[in-house]
Amino acid sequence: MGDEPELEPIPPLLHSVFLDGPFRSCSVCGEDLMLGAVPYQIQKVWRNREVVFEMAVCARCCVDLLRQFSRESLEKMKGFVEKHYRPVAGVSVCHFCAKILDEGSEREIEAVCSMARLLRPVVVVCADCNAKVQEDLSRKTREAWGDFMDRNFPGVPRQMEPENTPLLF
Ligand SMILES: [Zn+2]
Ligand SMILES: [Zn+2]
Repeated sequence: MGDEPELEPIPPLLHSVFLDGPFRSCSVCGEDLMLGAVPYQIQKVWRNREVVFEMAVCARCCVDLLRQFSRESLEKMKGFVEKHYRPVAGVSVCHFCAKILDEGSEREIEAVCSMARLLRPVVVVCADCNAKVQEDLSRKTREAWGDFMDRNFPGVPRQMEPENTPLLF
């Protein structure tokens, strides 16, 4: 057990702006994320230096959402990640196209976490790469995502919603 690498703490960049601190509960079911019973995914989107969307969703709720996506969409998302994902350190480069992102560029950062630690390195996606994934998604998948947003983030006006469904890791 002793040689297990220590997991890195979640960087403040991935804390909740709304809570002004780490995410503590699942944005969907309210599960206490600090108990460590389930891993969870954080997704944050920046546009013009501002966070326009953030959520932390537990693995159970992620699975429920993905079940409503079409099989074809899931395969395309998976294919995109397998083909283009090139992990690099830092958050100022897109991990899919290697484009350098200046401070004002739109970007999305995703992370898989358990309690206060990262289970894997954070993933950075630029707006162009995100758009590429989204345009390939089926209508069924887009509708499932739209319903998910309406149900869980009713305060977010439709035009402000990220089109970006979370990527699969
Ligand atoms: Zn949940
Ligand atoms: Zn990119």
